[in-house]
Amino acid sequence: MFLTGKTALITGSTSGIGLAYAKALAAEGANVVINGFGDAAEIEKERQALAEASGADAIYVNTDLTTEKGCEELMRAAFDKFGAVDILINNAGMQHVAPIDEFPVDKWDKIIALNLSSAFHTSRLAIPKMREKGWGRIIMTASAHSLTASPFKVAYVSAKHALAGMAKTIALETAEQNITCNCISPGYVWTPLVEDQIPDTMKARNMTREQVINDVLLEREPTKKFTQPDDLAALVVFLCRDVAANITGSNISADGGWTAQ
Ligand code: NAD
Repeated sequence: MFLTGKTALITGSTSGIGLAYAKALAAEGANVVINGFGDAAEIEKERQALAEASGADAIYVNTDLTTEKGCEELMRAAFDKFGAVDILINNAGMQHVAPIDEFPVDKWDKIIALNLSSAFHTSRLAIPKMREKGWGRIIMTASAHSLTASPFKVAYVSAKHALAGMAKTIALETAEQNITCNCISPGYVWTPLVEDQIPDTMKARNMTREQVINDVLLEREPTKKFTQPDDLAALVVFLCRDVAANITGSNISADGGWTAQ
Protein backbone atom coordinates (compact mmCIF):
# COMPACT_ATOMS: atom_id res chain seq x y z
CA MET A 1 0.00 0.00 0.00
CA PHE A 2 2.53 2.58 -1.17
CA LEU A 3 -0.04 5.43 -1.29
CA THR A 4 -1.04 5.30 2.38
CA GLY A 5 -1.18 8.87 3.68
CA LYS A 6 -1.71 10.34 0.21
CA THR A 7 -4.96 11.76 -1.18
CA ALA A 8 -6.16 11.20 -4.75
CA LEU A 9 -8.90 13.23 -6.41
CA ILE A 10 -10.37 11.91 -9.63
CA THR A 11 -12.84 14.02 -11.59
CA GLY A 12 -15.65 12.12 -13.32
CA SER A 13 -15.18 9.01 -11.22
CA THR A 14 -18.71 7.75 -10.61
CA SER A 15 -18.41 5.46 -13.63
CA GLY A 16 -16.15 4.09 -16.36
CA ILE A 17 -12.46 4.88 -16.44
CA GLY A 18 -12.49 7.30 -13.49
CA LEU A 19 -14.05 4.72 -11.18
CA ALA A 20 -11.39 2.18 -12.19
CA TYR A 21 -8.71 4.77 -11.30
CA ALA A 22 -10.36 5.39 -7.91
CA LYS A 23 -10.46 1.66 -7.13
CA ALA A 24 -6.81 1.13 -8.08
CA LEU A 25 -5.58 4.09 -6.03
CA ALA A 26 -7.71 3.08 -3.02
CA ALA A 27 -6.26 -0.42 -3.27
CA GLU A 28 -2.84 1.19 -2.73
CA GLY A 29 -4.06 2.92 0.46
CA ALA A 30 -4.87 6.44 -0.78
CA ASN A 31 -7.70 8.57 0.52
CA VAL A 32 -9.97 9.07 -2.45
CA VAL A 33 -12.20 11.94 -3.56
CA ILE A 34 -14.72 10.90 -6.19
CA ASN A 35 -16.90 13.20 -8.27
CA GLY A 36 -19.48 12.96 -11.02
CA PHE A 37 -23.16 12.29 -11.51
CA GLY A 38 -25.32 9.22 -11.04
CA ASP A 39 -27.65 7.33 -8.73
CA ALA A 40 -27.03 8.50 -5.15
CA ALA A 41 -27.40 5.04 -3.58
CA GLU A 42 -25.04 3.44 -6.13
CA ILE A 43 -22.44 6.16 -5.59
CA GLU A 44 -22.67 5.74 -1.80
CA LYS A 45 -22.06 1.99 -2.25
CA GLU A 46 -18.97 2.70 -4.35
CA ARG A 47 -17.74 5.28 -1.83
CA GLN A 48 -18.03 2.80 1.03
CA ALA A 49 -16.23 0.11 -0.96
CA LEU A 50 -13.41 2.55 -1.74
CA ALA A 51 -12.98 3.48 1.93
CA GLU A 52 -12.97 -0.18 2.90
CA ALA A 53 -10.40 -1.13 0.24
CA SER A 54 -8.05 1.70 1.15
CA GLY A 55 -8.21 1.36 4.92
CA ALA A 56 -8.27 5.16 4.63
CA ASP A 57 -11.17 7.42 3.73
CA ALA A 58 -13.27 8.24 0.68
CA ILE A 59 -15.59 11.14 0.04
CA TYR A 60 -17.97 11.94 -2.80
CA VAL A 61 -18.37 15.54 -3.93
CA ASN A 62 -21.29 16.27 -6.20
CA THR A 63 -20.33 19.38 -8.17
CA ASP A 64 -20.77 20.34 -11.80
CA LEU A 65 -17.32 20.84 -13.29
CA THR A 66 -18.59 22.80 -16.28
CA THR A 67 -18.46 25.83 -13.98
CA GLU A 68 -15.52 27.53 -12.28
CA LYS A 69 -17.57 27.55 -9.06
CA GLY A 70 -18.15 23.79 -9.28
CA CYS A 71 -14.41 23.17 -9.69
CA GLU A 72 -13.59 25.42 -6.74
CA GLU A 73 -16.20 23.70 -4.54
CA LEU A 74 -14.75 20.29 -5.39
CA MET A 75 -11.22 21.35 -4.46
CA ARG A 76 -12.38 23.14 -1.31
CA ALA A 77 -14.24 20.02 -0.13
CA ALA A 78 -11.08 17.93 -0.68
CA PHE A 79 -8.85 20.44 1.13
CA ASP A 80 -11.33 20.76 4.05
CA LYS A 81 -11.33 16.99 4.51
CA PHE A 82 -7.75 15.99 3.69
CA GLY A 83 -5.68 19.22 3.66
CA ALA A 84 -4.30 18.72 0.15
CA VAL A 85 -4.64 16.71 -3.03
CA ASP A 86 -1.43 14.78 -3.78
CA ILE A 87 -2.69 12.97 -6.88
CA LEU A 88 -4.99 14.88 -9.20
CA ILE A 89 -6.58 13.06 -12.11
CA ASN A 90 -8.45 15.21 -14.57
CA ASN A 91 -10.68 12.63 -16.17
CA ALA A 92 -14.21 14.07 -16.53
CA GLY A 93 -15.22 14.39 -20.13
CA MET A 94 -18.12 14.43 -22.53
CA GLN A 95 -18.62 14.12 -26.28
CA HIS A 96 -20.94 15.51 -28.96
CA VAL A 97 -20.87 14.53 -32.62
CA ALA A 98 -21.98 16.99 -35.35
CA PRO A 99 -20.49 18.80 -38.37
CA ILE A 100 -18.85 22.10 -37.42
CA ASP A 101 -21.44 24.25 -39.22
CA GLU A 102 -24.24 22.51 -37.30
CA PHE A 103 -22.36 22.10 -34.01
CA PRO A 104 -24.54 23.52 -31.20
CA VAL A 105 -22.71 26.43 -29.59
CA ASP A 106 -23.88 25.45 -26.12
CA LYS A 107 -22.35 21.96 -26.63
CA TRP A 108 -19.06 23.55 -27.69
CA ASP A 109 -19.07 25.69 -24.53
CA LYS A 110 -19.88 22.74 -22.25
CA ILE A 111 -17.28 20.41 -23.77
CA ILE A 112 -14.54 23.04 -23.56
CA ALA A 113 -15.60 23.79 -19.97
CA LEU A 114 -15.63 20.17 -18.81
CA ASN A 115 -12.89 18.52 -20.91
CA LEU A 116 -10.45 21.45 -20.75
CA SER A 117 -11.20 24.33 -18.36
CA SER A 118 -12.02 22.09 -15.38
CA ALA A 119 -8.47 20.67 -15.60
CA PHE A 120 -7.07 24.21 -15.54
CA HIS A 121 -9.09 25.10 -12.42
CA THR A 122 -8.36 21.92 -10.45
CA SER A 123 -4.65 22.06 -11.37
CA ARG A 124 -4.16 25.73 -10.51
CA LEU A 125 -5.75 25.08 -7.11
CA ALA A 126 -3.93 21.80 -6.37
CA ILE A 127 -0.38 22.79 -7.35
CA PRO A 128 0.42 25.27 -4.51
CA LYS A 129 -0.28 22.55 -1.91
CA MET A 130 1.71 19.98 -3.90
CA ARG A 131 4.62 22.44 -3.88
CA GLU A 132 4.29 22.89 -0.11
CA LYS A 133 4.42 19.12 0.38
CA GLY A 134 7.19 18.62 -2.16
CA TRP A 135 5.38 15.86 -4.06
CA GLY A 136 2.60 15.64 -6.61
CA ARG A 137 1.16 13.77 -9.54
CA ILE A 138 -1.20 15.26 -12.13
CA ILE A 139 -2.62 12.99 -14.78
CA MET A 140 -5.01 13.92 -17.57
CA THR A 141 -7.20 11.37 -19.28
CA ALA A 142 -6.76 12.80 -22.77
CA SER A 143 -7.51 10.61 -25.80
CA ALA A 144 -6.14 9.46 -29.14
CA HIS A 145 -8.03 12.61 -30.13
CA SER A 146 -5.34 14.66 -28.37
CA LEU A 147 -3.00 13.54 -31.16
CA THR A 148 -5.21 13.02 -34.20
CA ALA A 149 -8.63 14.20 -35.39
CA SER A 150 -11.88 12.65 -36.53
CA PRO A 151 -14.60 14.51 -38.41
CA PHE A 152 -17.65 15.81 -36.53
CA LYS A 153 -15.90 15.97 -33.14
CA VAL A 154 -14.59 19.53 -33.30
CA ALA A 155 -15.11 20.41 -29.62
CA TYR A 156 -13.77 17.11 -28.26
CA VAL A 157 -10.69 17.09 -30.53
CA SER A 158 -9.96 20.76 -29.78
CA ALA A 159 -10.32 20.24 -26.02
CA LYS A 160 -8.18 17.10 -25.95
CA HIS A 161 -5.38 18.65 -28.05
CA ALA A 162 -5.38 21.64 -25.70
CA LEU A 163 -5.39 19.37 -22.64
CA ALA A 164 -2.19 17.76 -23.93
CA GLY A 165 -0.68 21.24 -24.26
CA MET A 166 -1.76 22.11 -20.74
CA ALA A 167 -0.09 18.97 -19.38
CA LYS A 168 3.21 19.88 -21.07
CA THR A 169 3.04 23.42 -19.69
CA ILE A 170 2.32 22.21 -16.15
CA ALA A 171 5.17 19.70 -16.44
CA LEU A 172 7.61 22.51 -17.28
CA GLU A 173 6.36 24.80 -14.52
CA THR A 174 6.66 22.09 -11.85
CA ALA A 175 9.71 20.27 -13.21
CA GLU A 176 12.01 20.99 -10.26
CA GLN A 177 9.38 20.48 -7.57
CA ASN A 178 8.95 16.70 -7.52
CA ILE A 179 5.62 17.07 -9.30
CA THR A 180 4.92 15.30 -12.59
CA CYS A 181 2.16 15.93 -15.10
CA ASN A 182 1.30 13.52 -17.91
CA CYS A 183 -1.51 12.56 -20.26
CA ILE A 184 -2.88 9.09 -20.81
CA SER A 185 -4.41 8.86 -24.27
CA PRO A 186 -6.66 5.86 -24.87
CA GLY A 187 -8.32 4.77 -28.06
CA TYR A 188 -11.61 2.97 -27.49
CA VAL A 189 -11.99 1.76 -23.91
CA TRP A 190 -14.36 -1.06 -23.00
CA THR A 191 -16.87 0.87 -20.84
CA PRO A 192 -20.66 0.52 -20.56
CA LEU A 193 -20.95 3.59 -22.78
CA VAL A 194 -19.12 1.86 -25.64
CA GLU A 195 -20.79 -1.51 -25.08
CA ASP A 196 -24.24 0.08 -25.15
CA GLN A 197 -23.63 1.53 -28.64
CA ILE A 198 -23.23 -1.92 -30.17
CA PRO A 199 -26.88 -3.12 -30.45
CA ASP A 200 -28.05 0.17 -32.02
CA THR A 201 -25.18 0.21 -34.49
CA MET A 202 -25.88 -3.44 -35.41
CA LYS A 203 -29.45 -2.48 -36.25
CA ALA A 204 -28.62 0.81 -37.98
CA ARG A 205 -25.94 -0.72 -40.23
CA ASN A 206 -27.33 -4.25 -40.51
CA MET A 207 -24.09 -5.67 -39.14
CA THR A 208 -23.13 -8.49 -36.79
CA ARG A 209 -21.67 -7.72 -33.37
CA GLU A 210 -18.19 -8.69 -34.64
CA GLN A 211 -18.53 -6.40 -37.67
CA VAL A 212 -19.54 -3.47 -35.49
CA ILE A 213 -16.57 -4.08 -33.18
CA ASN A 214 -13.92 -4.65 -35.87
CA ASP A 215 -15.12 -2.44 -38.72
CA VAL A 216 -16.76 0.46 -36.88
CA LEU A 217 -15.52 0.85 -33.32
CA LEU A 218 -12.01 -0.53 -33.79
CA GLU A 219 -11.67 0.49 -37.44
CA ARG A 220 -8.59 2.61 -36.73
CA GLU A 221 -7.01 0.37 -34.08
CA PRO A 222 -4.63 -2.17 -35.64
CA THR A 223 -4.70 -4.51 -32.62
CA LYS A 224 -8.52 -4.80 -32.92
CA LYS A 225 -8.65 -4.84 -29.13
CA PHE A 226 -10.36 -2.51 -26.69
CA THR A 227 -8.30 -1.01 -23.91
CA GLN A 228 -9.64 -2.05 -20.50
CA PRO A 229 -10.27 0.55 -17.74
CA ASP A 230 -8.22 -1.58 -15.32
CA ASP A 231 -5.23 -1.45 -17.68
CA LEU A 232 -5.36 2.35 -17.67
CA ALA A 233 -5.70 2.27 -13.88
CA ALA A 234 -2.53 0.18 -13.65
CA LEU A 235 -0.75 2.87 -15.69
CA VAL A 236 -2.01 5.56 -13.30
CA VAL A 237 -0.67 3.60 -10.33
CA PHE A 238 2.68 3.22 -12.09
CA LEU A 239 2.86 6.99 -12.73
CA CYS A 240 2.39 7.54 -8.98
CA ARG A 241 5.42 5.41 -8.09
CA ASP A 242 8.86 6.89 -7.37
CA VAL A 243 10.29 5.05 -10.41
CA ALA A 244 8.08 7.31 -12.58
CA ALA A 245 9.42 10.54 -11.05
CA ASN A 246 11.24 11.47 -14.26
CA ILE A 247 8.29 10.79 -16.56
CA THR A 248 6.73 14.20 -17.03
CA GLY A 249 5.24 16.15 -19.91
CA SER A 250 4.55 12.96 -21.80
CA ASN A 251 1.45 11.83 -23.64
CA ILE A 252 1.20 8.08 -23.21
CA SER A 253 -0.90 6.36 -25.87
CA ALA A 254 -2.98 3.29 -25.07
CA ASP A 255 -4.73 3.08 -28.41
CA GLY A 256 -3.83 -0.25 -30.05
CA GLY A 257 -1.54 1.50 -32.52
CA TRP A 258 -4.14 4.02 -33.78
CA THR A 259 -1.84 7.05 -33.66
CA ALA A 260 1.20 5.10 -34.89
CA GLN A 261 -0.28 5.11 -38.39
P1 NAD B 1 -18.12 8.08 -18.55
O1 NAD B 1 -19.24 8.80 -19.23
O2 NAD B 1 -18.33 6.65 -18.09
O3 NAD B 1 -17.61 8.92 -17.31
C1 NAD B 1 -17.60 10.31 -17.32
C2 NAD B 1 -17.62 10.78 -15.88
O4 NAD B 1 -17.70 12.22 -15.89
C3 NAD B 1 -18.84 10.28 -15.09
O5 NAD B 1 -18.46 10.06 -13.75
C4 NAD B 1 -19.79 11.47 -15.19
O6 NAD B 1 -20.77 11.51 -14.15
C5 NAD B 1 -18.81 12.61 -15.08
N1 NAD B 1 -19.34 13.88 -15.55
C6 NAD B 1 -20.04 14.14 -16.68
N2 NAD B 1 -20.38 15.44 -16.73
C7 NAD B 1 -19.86 16.01 -15.60
C8 NAD B 1 -19.88 17.34 -15.07
N3 NAD B 1 -20.50 18.35 -15.72
N4 NAD B 1 -19.27 17.57 -13.89
C9 NAD B 1 -18.66 16.57 -13.21
N5 NAD B 1 -18.61 15.30 -13.67
C10 NAD B 1 -19.20 15.03 -14.85
O7 NAD B 1 -16.89 8.19 -19.55
P2 NAD B 1 -15.49 7.42 -19.66
O8 NAD B 1 -15.54 6.65 -20.91
O9 NAD B 1 -15.10 6.74 -18.40
O10 NAD B 1 -14.53 8.67 -19.91
C11 NAD B 1 -13.65 9.21 -18.98
C12 NAD B 1 -12.61 10.04 -19.72
O11 NAD B 1 -11.92 9.20 -20.64
C13 NAD B 1 -13.20 11.18 -20.56
O12 NAD B 1 -12.38 12.33 -20.43
C14 NAD B 1 -13.15 10.66 -21.98
O13 NAD B 1 -13.04 11.69 -22.92
C15 NAD B 1 -11.89 9.83 -21.92
N6 NAD B 1 -11.81 8.79 -22.96
C16 NAD B 1 -12.73 7.78 -23.01
C17 NAD B 1 -12.62 6.81 -24.00
C18 NAD B 1 -13.59 5.65 -24.13
O14 NAD B 1 -13.52 4.90 -25.09
N7 NAD B 1 -14.47 5.44 -23.16
C19 NAD B 1 -11.58 6.91 -24.94
C20 NAD B 1 -10.66 7.96 -24.86
C21 NAD B 1 -10.79 8.90 -23.85
